[in-house]
Amino acid sequence: KRNARINPKTLVTSILKKDTTALSRAITLVESKNTEHLDIANNIIKQCLPHANKSIRIGITGVPGVGKSTFIETFGKHLTALGKRVAVLAIDPSSSLTKGSILGDKTRMEELVKDENAYIRPSASGKSLGGVAKKTRESIILCEAAGFDVIIIETVGVGQSETTVHSMVDFFLLLKLAGAGDELQGIKRGIIEMADTIAINKADGDNLKPAKLAKVEFNRALHLYPQKNSDWQPKVMLCSAIKNEGIDIIWNVINEYIETTIENNYFYKKRKEQNKFWLIQTIEEQLKSNFFNRPDIKKELTTQLHLIENNKTTPFAAAYYLLSLAH
Ligand code: GDP
Repeated sequence: KRNARINPKTLVTSILKKDTTALSRAITLVESKNTEHLDIANNIIKQCLPHANKSIRIGITGVPGVGKSTFIETFGKHLTALGKRVAVLAIDPSSSLTKGSILGDKTRMEELVKDENAYIRPSASGKSLGGVAKKTRESIILCEAAGFDVIIIETVGVGQSETTVHSMVDFFLLLKLAGAGDELQGIKRGIIEMADTIAINKADGDNLKPAKLAKVEFNRALHLYPQKNSDWQPKVMLCSAIKNEGIDIIWNVINEYIETTIENNYFYKKRKEQNKFWLIQTIEEQLKSNFFNRPDIKKELTTQLHLIENNKTTPFAAAYYLLSLAH
């Protein structure tokens, strides 16, 4: 069998030598649903862990069309020109292996793809955002072991995905458009509150003026929130990903953030909090999937759903009954 040829130790050695083919193979193992692969993946991650934790993890999110891929391409090229190695992990909550996707179906980041100091890896999340998030967390470790200095986690801004990304990065960058009318929605959903910086993209040509106005609005909105635990006052910036304007300043701001939060101890405290959070998340995910994948539960669940449909039981009674089967 092919599995027999996977030697975790040699794969780890190659990853530590910055071999991206080995990195890709390891990420594929992490993402695999095959339980044999899971063991190998866990072994690899364990060996990589002492070499992880050294990068800057940046979350980038925004609605489709805001310019995420254009931004990451320009931003990524800026970083590689500075001698940084950049990995991009894209979480696509809309896609599954069979359906199309928002992030994956067009030619994205053509220049960055060709850059030998960049690595781009999309992940389809399918049904479970929690599931893909766990894998992304593990992929971050693998990328760090492979010596990437900056890890960008990209996601489309839909619902839960921003919160998930926020819980695994050091710095959260929210891309916005001027006059898109979703300012209030962002406030309601608490997305703006998570942002360490809001970058208003496409601040070029006729868009520059509305972008400047939007900057004032967002600044006002940000001041409605209490001081962050990080003591960092979130910033609103203008940029044009297509014209490469403002991108260098955003990188400077990120560095300023990192310096500030390392100095006030927030940086590593946050990473520890995130690790604790992910411990609980992983257990929850695992318990859930163990439960729902049991053949007896699958069968009885169908029966109980049918009983509920016909008012023959209550959701609570059905739930207790199903849970009792798993003891
Ligand atoms: P994504 O869906 O968020 O990844 O957005 P894309 O990067 O694919 O960009 C959507 C569209 O906006 C494309 O046609 C881009 O060329 C365009 N775009 C991206 N950034 C800019 C920018 O800074 N200025 C202008 N004028 N257009 C941009």
